Amino acid sequence: MSIEQDQLRLLPSVDELLQSLAGQQLIQRYSRPLTLRALRATLTQARNAIRQGATCPPYESLLNEAEQLLAREQQPALRPVINATGVIINTNLGRAPLSQAALEAVQRVAGGYSNLEYDLEEGERGSRHTHVAELLKELTGAEAALVTNNNAAAVLLALSTLASGREVIISRGQLVEIGGGFRVPDVMRQSGCQLVEVGTTNRTRIDDYRAALSERTALLLRVHPSNFHILGFTESTPLQSLAELAHQHNLLLMDDLGSGCLLPSERYGLAHEPMPQESLAAGADVVCFSGDKLLGGPQAGILVGKAEVLKRIARHPLMRAVRIDKMTLAALEATLRHYQRQEAETHIPIWRMIALSPAKIAGRAASWAASLQQRGIPARTQRGESTVGGGSLPGETLPTTLLALDAARMPVPLDELAKRLRTRPTPVIARISRDMLLLDPRTVLKEQDEEVVRALVEVVGG
Ligand SMILES: *Cc1c(COP(=O)(O)O)cnc(C)c1O
Repeated sequence: MSIEQDQLRLLPSVDELLQSLAGQQLIQRYSRPLTLRALRATLTQARNAIRQGATCPPYESLLNEAEQLLAREQQPALRPVINATGVIINTNLGRAPLSQAALEAVQRVAGGYSNLEYDLEEGERGSRHTHVAELLKELTGAEAALVTNNNAAAVLLALSTLASGREVIISRGQLVEIGGGFRVPDVMRQSGCQLVEVGTTNRTRIDDYRAALSERTALLLRVHPSNFHILGFTESTPLQSLAELAHQHNLLLMDDLGSGCLLPSERYGLAHEPMPQESLAAGADVVCFSGDKLLGGPQAGILVGKAEVLKRIARHPLMRAVRIDKMTLAALEATLRHYQRQEAETHIPIWRMIALSPAKIAGRAASWAASLQQRGIPARTQRGESTVGGGSLPGETLPTTLLALDAARMPVPLDELAKRLRTRPTPVIARISRDMLLLDPRTVLKEQDEEVVRALVEVVGG
């Protein structure tokens, strides 16, 4: 008999492993079918290794293998990552982190029943929109407000109600692709309206809109070109002129702001991001924006505007298909309250990141570098730029200090390092630029500082 067959014969059976104390503990924790599957996979692996010349591993290491396999399988598929990219509203990484108050609000509402659609005064059916409508009216000066699942849904719903089967006039310079291949004009066409594009990519005048008016026109639409910037010989029509033209002809003006910013972004050294209250003041009948871009809340779509127009929108059958859920609503209300209490800058994570002082960031980067140097890892800091991201403030950057690891001084190539960082149980997402791995403290939550250093020590060392 060959050595290989001897070794194969030494392998325990699945039943033996299942009946061991450690096997029973795995069953307790992960269920019998999952344990069985993991043990079978482990035994198959061991059998293959023996055929390659290995010896039969001890029982404990087989059980250990199986346990690690189970732990890996049971890791949540959707899990937290540390964003060291310096892109504050990072759509791929879940856009805006929620404030503590928003998290607590979700927790309070999600684990039990709530007055989601129940009027406690009257003891009868209520509307889920009332929970945030008053706040939104107060913050934007609108007559009425409605919320949906996201802003794309808000656009679809508004156009379906107001312009289905009719024409919507839009500037060619505003036909935006939001990312992930989604184009705003495609979403708009789904509402059954016909887009009438006017002007050129760089210039659109009020006369272009006027010339396009017909008896089929339902509304004029402005879309904020949120994720790109045209420089040079450009001209766009002020919202106020569009409102005047629309109203002269008994038409509506809708403004898709994309990000929708309730704080004056210029206060933070950024360009001015248009605010919903400005659009309403300029005469827009409906203004829509996202909950999880510069608002810094949960994924949601927000519609504010004229009461009579929003009433029609609220009655459209699609309203039910795009309705907001209770967890989102709880987080949105808590987020809006930060604005009401004038504490957005200190309580909403994205605004805290935007407002971080250059000295604070430099201090954190220097402290990361020092911790790494102490452990023999050559790290340094350098000046760089953070971006707002998420389809807002294109081209706008905030000065930052980055932690930099130079490729020439690392034991493995940078893409391997970046991959090791990404594939840890708590992934750290960094960026590679030229021959450097760069990490920006601005988007790393303060309580994650130690984990970033631990991760770097781990991946450079291992
Ligand atoms: C981001 C964006 C949208 C879509 O908003 P979501 O909340 O992601 O659905 C629509 N229009 C514009 C102009 C945007 O920038």
